[in-house]
Amino acid sequence: MKSSILLIYTGGTIGMMEDPTTGSLVPFDFEHLQDNVPELRRFNFQIDSVSFDEPIDSSDITIASWQRIAQIIEVNYEHYEGFVILHGTDTMAYSSSALSFMLENLGKPVIFTGSQLPIGRLRTDGKENLITAVEIASAKQNDVSIIQEVCIYFQSQLFRGNRTHKYSTENFDAFECANMDALAEVGIHIEYKPEILFRSSGKFRVKSEMDNNVAVLKIYPGMSQQVVSGILGVKGLRAVVLETYGSGNAFTNSWFLAMLENAIKNDLLVLNITQCDKGFVDQGLYETSTSLQKIGVIGGADMTSEAAITKLMFLLGQPLATSEVKQMLHQSLRGELTSYPTL
Ligand code: ASP
Repeated sequence: MKSSILLIYTGGTIGMMEDPTTGSLVPFDFEHLQDNVPELRRFNFQIDSVSFDEPIDSSDITIASWQRIAQIIEVNYEHYEGFVILHGTDTMAYSSSALSFMLENLGKPVIFTGSQLPIGRLRTDGKENLITAVEIASAKQNDVSIIQEVCIYFQSQLFRGNRTHKYSTENFDAFECANMDALAEVGIHIEYKPEILFRSSGKFRVKSEMDNNVAVLKIYPGMSQQVVSGILGVKGLRAVVLETYGSGNAFTNSWFLAMLENAIKNDLLVLNITQCDKGFVDQGLYETSTSLQKIGVIGGADMTSEAAITKLMFLLGQPLATSEVKQMLHQSLRGELTSYPTL
């Protein structure tokens, strides 16, 4: 059977044009984008498209935008072999992480892509990104989709969406995936790495409820008590992503530990991830993380900040008991963390 692919256009630089009065890049409509990539017509399968009513710069992405994307995929799931989402690069790693959690038991490719230069520019990186993303979304082996997860394709590399981070505003290879290999390297051939591709079993379903009562507390030397208490005291807050140093270390001031302990006793979930790009949180390795472990801070292994925030939003949006949420934070739900034997 021939593939058919659905392109979902949300906005981002790939489809932007310069506003003639201000000179700033603003989102443009999808027809403009298609006109600039006539090569799409040369695929020998059908490519349909759907666009957000108002394409946006991805800095304006919200939970409602993720729910909209999830809904489009849900409604069209049986009709298409794969989905390509055109999205701005700024929050692409958040969106691909969020969608990875919302789409349970995904059996088809969902590939995010975009570009650093608008598609109308001569040196655009958007054409190659879009064309290869479509090719990956349609790739099958023995009639089965090779990719069955949410990914980001950018500049010759296919990354797991919930492992990826935008690291460059300048380079065409804007993304990195520091804690695992690329799922595929693209050169003359597309070399997939079957041993690390994510697989799930069970019926596909969309769980798009999220709870945004989540905050990030990034520690830094000289941080004041007022700042910590301000964040921990936010009304209705249910979880905090604690961004620590190195392998999960934080300052050991008694006021800091007491504030955290008190918040945890009052049912706040505190998830410890590292500020480093590569490596993982190993609470107890240094004395400066042992106390965090003791007061009930949860080790977030090697999750990216984007994955940690959206995983918490996702889990808190589900009808789960706190003990279940805690347990799932340790587990890999969609390949978002490595379960090291030491953890
Ligand atoms: N500000 C743009 C966006 O994220 C940047 C891009 O697309 O690369 O929508």
